Amino acid sequence: MARTPLIAGNWKMVLDHQSGTLLVQKLDWTLKDAKHDHDAVEVVVLPSHTSLRTVQTLIEGDKLDIKLGAQDVSAHESGAYTGEVSAAQLAKLGVGYVAIGHSERRQYHGETDELVKAKTAKALEHGLVPIVCVGEALDVRKAGEHVPFTVGQVTAALEGLSAAQVAGLVLAYEPVWAIGTGEVATPEDAQEVCAAIRAAVAGQFDAATAEAVRVLYGGSVKPASIASIMAQPDVDGALVGGASTDAADFAAIVRFR
Ligand code: PEP
Repeated sequence: MARTPLIAGNWKMVLDHQSGTLLVQKLDWTLKDAKHDHDAVEVVVLPSHTSLRTVQTLIEGDKLDIKLGAQDVSAHESGAYTGEVSAAQLAKLGVGYVAIGHSERRQYHGETDELVKAKTAKALEHGLVPIVCVGEALDVRKAGEHVPFTVGQVTAALEGLSAAQVAGLVLAYEPVWAIGTGEVATPEDAQEVCAAIRAAVAGQFDAATAEAVRVLYGGSVKPASIASIMAQPDVDGALVGGASTDAADFAAIVRFR
């Protein structure tokens, strides 16, 4: 079964609702000009929570072929969790995707594998597609432990889910040393870990699930580096940070072929 490539733009805490809306408009014009085939490559933007409503209104009102995701979600269903945003609230807003366990959440907010697992299950319960982020820090890479470390994060996040749930979600391999550093992993580095992730999913679930699940690479992806990364057989797309906040760069990444 062919997996549809997915290019997701993580705006982090960079764009506000006005600059975000403008970017989506420019992205849409650029992709339309280029006659981009959205069935061939899926495009997702992940604004800050404060921009979701505005971007959703634009996407829905103008019937844009760009999908909406959030950058985080609460593991809790509802209630006294000040500052958190629930999966139900996101789903009601028309959000389809949610990044979970981004390294910046793990690093600055102490998110553990256990919490990532709980958030993933909660997102699935509400029909959101989790983009579960995994990846090693530089010391782990230097110790040559990047594959078992990353696979361990994946296995922990997926524990307790059904094969059908896993087949529909997205895993993003983002080596921490490559995020926002300009230090892009080589295509071979990306392939090595993405293939290991797929093999781990086959072992934890089954071959059909591993064949279906989409595995992205993320870490300083730019227009110049995307094609060689996408040429790798186990890389199904990219999670793009910095370059996704520039419409021309992001459109060029989406049109990697
Ligand atoms: C990210 O935030 O997920 C990311 C990959 O950032 P950048 O592309 O800027 O490295």
